[in-house]
Amino acid sequence: MAENVPRVFGRRPFRTSPLQRNPTAMTTRDALHRPLRDLRISVTDRCNFRCVYCMPKEMFGSDHTFLPRAEILSFEEIARLARVFAGLGVNKLRITGGEPLVRHDMEELVGMLAAVEGIEDITLTTNATLLPGKAEALRDAGLNRITVSLDAIDDAVFRRINDVGYPVERVLEGIQAAAEAGLGPVKVNMVVKRGMNEDQILPMARHFRDTGHILRFIEFMDVGNSNGWRMDDVVTAAQIRDTLDAEWPLEPLDPNYPGEVASRYRFADGAGEVGIISSVTEPFCSTCSRVRLSAQGELYTCLFGGQGHDLRALLRGGAPDGEIGEFLKALWSGRADRYSELRTEETAARPKVEMSHIGG
Ligand code: SAM
Ligand code: SF4
Ligand code: SF4
Repeated sequence: MAENVPRVFGRRPFRTSPLQRNPTAMTTRDALHRPLRDLRISVTDRCNFRCVYCMPKEMFGSDHTFLPRAEILSFEEIARLARVFAGLGVNKLRITGGEPLVRHDMEELVGMLAAVEGIEDITLTTNATLLPGKAEALRDAGLNRITVSLDAIDDAVFRRINDVGYPVERVLEGIQAAAEAGLGPVKVNMVVKRGMNEDQILPMARHFRDTGHILRFIEFMDVGNSNGWRMDDVVTAAQIRDTLDAEWPLEPLDPNYPGEVASRYRFADGAGEVGIISSVTEPFCSTCSRVRLSAQGELYTCLFGGQGHDLRALLRGGAPDGEIGEFLKALWSGRADRYSELRTEETAARPKVEMSHIGG
């Protein structure tokens, strides 16, 4: 490619559908007729942040025990599972954590996943701290896009949220590095929690308008049991929408694809688009095609699951791919999860897997 061609065109070309590329791929449907399409892979339970709503220091302090190396799936084990999932119809992968980039050589894993027949799209969710110096290697390995989490544009507010005193400026450098590497448009995720950062909705929108990046507001969810979630803490999608619309009128946009979790809006003045993810007040379980793999190889068919299914034991116990595939097919076929449609104060208090284990 010529030097002066913008990097954004350096991305991996669009791929054909898994059925075209992978004749053995099938559509596996669950008990509510939802296909299996997305696999989210957590590669570590560790993180260099202690976001107050995700890994509060009281629960994840210096005495917290993280998973030992031997208990975490190797890159080879992850890639093998990705191959089996692709055979069942998965065509999108998201790498997450903890903070995925604290695990070394992530580009090696991306390369292995990009080589899996049937995988069309590989993305990574990160706090962006380790992106400068990494973004190009990730792109070269086959990463398609990046989602960056940033919960405030005000430096003091952001430092309070990440709780390790990390400056906003460095996250912005990470976003820039991703865009320059051709991994844009970057999606920027902001979790909105009452009393924490709802005063940042407009400043964040002001900052990211007209940049080409897509800011997405996420309702605070009752994932896990350590973040002290209460319904009163949720700033609803409707409130977020109204706040934005009063400042810059919004117009709804069609989803990019069926089952897209964010409701899309464009600024009527042409300054780009925003998304709102309303998993608490306007659930989207009816189109949920996502399955989640924890760093230690437990599979969750819902973000709010209490009990994972141990794939590591199958892998390390010598099960052949066919047996693992049959297990996954049976598991998905019986899936009837729709937690967000059924949420009550009582369900919120039930034991659930932590976000830092399965990565959102
Ligand atoms: N460390 C990476 C990051 O922050 O992007 C990836 C893992 S993090 C668990 C994935 C996403 O989950 C982040 O965007 C984070 O803000 C979001 N998240 C964590 N806890 C949440 C909660 N209780 N409600 C809504 N989103 C949450
Ligand atoms: Fe770490 Fe991401 Fe959780 Fe923040 S949201 S503590 S960056 S895993
Ligand atoms: Fe999917 Fe569970 Fe979230 Fe519903 S609550 S959208 S089933 S992960």
